[in-house]
Amino acid sequence: MAVDPLIELRDVNKYYGQLHVLQDINLTVGRGEVVVVIGPSGSGKSTLCRTVNRLETIESGSITIDGQPLPEEGKGLAKLRADVGMVFQSFNLFAHKTVLANVALAPVKVRGRSKGDAHRRAHELLDRVGLASQADKYPAQLSGGQQQRVAIARALAMDPKVMLFDEPTSALDPEMINEVLEVMQQLAREGMTMVVVTHEMGFARSAANRVVFMSDGCIIEDRAPEDFFTHPESDRAKDFLSKIL
Ligand code: ADP
Ligand code: MG
Repeated sequence: MAVDPLIELRDVNKYYGQLHVLQDINLTVGRGEVVVVIGPSGSGKSTLCRTVNRLETIESGSITIDGQPLPEEGKGLAKLRADVGMVFQSFNLFAHKTVLANVALAPVKVRGRSKGDAHRRAHELLDRVGLASQADKYPAQLSGGQQQRVAIARALAMDPKVMLFDEPTSALDPEMINEVLEVMQQLAREGMTMVVVTHEMGFARSAANRVVFMSDGCIIEDRAPEDFFTHPESDRAKDFLSKIL
């Protein structure tokens, strides 16, 4: 059990109509921890991520971040979204803004930074993700891997407490997957708290503190990666691993 919990989900239930998409979810993510979430398509992994930054509401249970319940609306919600960085499969960059502007925009609007500060920080972050020389380009001029690294820099520009990644490499050509995983590995080493939905088992083995296996809206296993990969307990996890490894 994590000593210093940053994210806590207690008995969380969510429905889409008749579909019980999250079933009594209990999950603690400690500060600085990297939790990889895996499981078959449709098991509720994206929904889980989306409830944590309140892109989705829940029917029962509680979610706290840094001890605070998720805000319902208004300013609190904007701050929550800034505190919880999210990177999706599709990069969702602003097509008509430069790479630099994509990274610098939200800190000015949401965090109230000066333009000068936001630009300086955006340059630093682009350097960190290996894109210092691309600052003045537009998203369409970059490869998918580069665009995803911009999306990561953009989330980091808000100084989030935690980063959620929902299949960040699933839309990428194979040769671009590693450049994105390396940026994520680096973040993990620097102590960022991360929840990562991915099918990249190499990343799970090397970066994760825990692997959470979901199936049909339930967390079936929540264990250290080596344990999970060498001795999956449930039939569902064994079946899943036999298909992807
Ligand atoms: P995963 O990310 O593990 O593939 P999702 O969280 O995307 O799973 O989806 C879990 C289940 O909820 C699936 O059966 C999916 O079809 C359903 N679902 C997801 N989003 C919606 C929605 N907005 N409305 C209705 N059903 C949804
Ligand atoms: Mg998904």
